[in-house]
Amino acid sequence: MIGTSAGRTAGRLPDAANVVVIGGGVMGTSIAFHLAEAGVSDIVLLERSDLGSGSTCKAAGGVRAQFSDPINIALGMRGLEAFERFPERPGQEIDLRQPGYLFLLTDKEQVAAYEQSAELQNRMGVPTRLLTPGEAARLNPIVSLDDVLAASFHPRDGYCSPESVVLGYASAARRLGATILPHTEVTGIDVNGGEITGVHTDAGTVRTGAVIIAAGAWSASLGVMAGVSLPVEPLRRQILITEPLPASLAALVTHETPMTIDASTTFYFHREGPGILLGMSYRDETPGFRWEYSEEWLPPLVESMERRAPALLDVGIAHRWVGMYEVTPDHNALLGTSTDVSRLMYACGFSGHGFLQGPAVGEVIRDLFLEVAPAIDVSPFTAERFASGMLRGEVNIV
Ligand SMILES: Cc1cc2nc3c(=O)[nH]c(=O)nc-3n(C[C@H](O)[C@H](O)[C@H](O)COP(=O)(O)OP(=O)(O)OC[C@H]3O[C@@H](n4cnc5c(N)ncnc54)[C@H](O)[C@@H]3O)c2cc1C
Repeated sequence: MIGTSAGRTAGRLPDAANVVVIGGGVMGTSIAFHLAEAGVSDIVLLERSDLGSGSTCKAAGGVRAQFSDPINIALGMRGLEAFERFPERPGQEIDLRQPGYLFLLTDKEQVAAYEQSAELQNRMGVPTRLLTPGEAARLNPIVSLDDVLAASFHPRDGYCSPESVVLGYASAARRLGATILPHTEVTGIDVNGGEITGVHTDAGTVRTGAVIIAAGAWSASLGVMAGVSLPVEPLRRQILITEPLPASLAALVTHETPMTIDASTTFYFHREGPGILLGMSYRDETPGFRWEYSEEWLPPLVESMERRAPALLDVGIAHRWVGMYEVTPDHNALLGTSTDVSRLMYACGFSGHGFLQGPAVGEVIRDLFLEVAPAIDVSPFTAERFASGMLRGEVNIV
């Protein structure tokens, strides 16, 4: 996460703002950057802790366009393009690696679903291919493929550094005139007759007519402050980083080895520095802010590793951390403008794939703020879809 030197500004809370962005993760900082770049003045971003300290800097850093929902494919592809150009715009090195994402598929229904997704991705200009187990083995020589029927692979997917992305957006937004205030907690939002009039914080009140809620797993409580339902729940997810790999393994799993995912169990791993970053969604986890590390996930994790990548079981664990997915009932984001409160926009509920959507969502919310049609139509992702029963299930989640 971005601490005092890079992320904190000496600025104080202004009396008034054109727009207040709540949350200093990838979403809030990307939105602030895109608004400032478009010439919006008097932007204030409020983050209650360090920038990036929510889910963003807990992410595995994976970036991809392999999804089943066309909106997610478009947001993911736009994200890849933006991450590739990040050193020029907004101007930050982000350690982007693009060895691809390799989803290993073990049952016929799964293969059919990924085939269908790959066809849709191809029609949208994403060259995903279904590979044979032999082709998958050449891309990642340490995985056991006895029960694998096929693999889905897009070579432009990859991973990069969440800390650097937040730093890049926040620094550029500040250079363009935005006020970025870490360690400033929003405590209330005033709404009168459907109009926003101000935002309360632990450092005072700022008058404003527009608010963007980008508060990750905490967004539901910010919605309540404005009288708007944002159905987002926190769900604990854990990551392990191994000790440096022995030379024999280091030669086989390199930064050219794809991010590899066992689609049935969600066990995934990629090279991280001298070791491996690995994780898995623990199926029995229940919603709630539980920040303590839990060993409950180890039996299913070890079982998956034994079956899929047994060589990794001999490598020690150097670090681990706990983060929160910000989950919605259909595992798709909430993006839009409230129909009840004028100029209240929200970008939250990314359900485990928000880091990669940061750049595209910044553009979309900029356009919603400017009241022009976004290049990617996200209207099916409105928070009102749950009341009308128009859910959008995403198949390809990790
Ligand atoms: C273990 C793990 C692995 C992941 N791996 C990936 C991955 O590989 N690829 C991917 O795309 N995604 C991944 N994700 C998901 C990704 O991290 C999130 O979807 C994304 O970071 C969400 O960004 P955000 O800006 O919406 O939220 P956050 O980064 O959580 O930012 C929200 C911010 O709002 C602040 N806030 C909350 N309440 C207030 C308040 N009252 N006042 C002021 N500020 C407030 C919080 O402090 C927080 O910093 C992963 C998540 C986890 C936990």
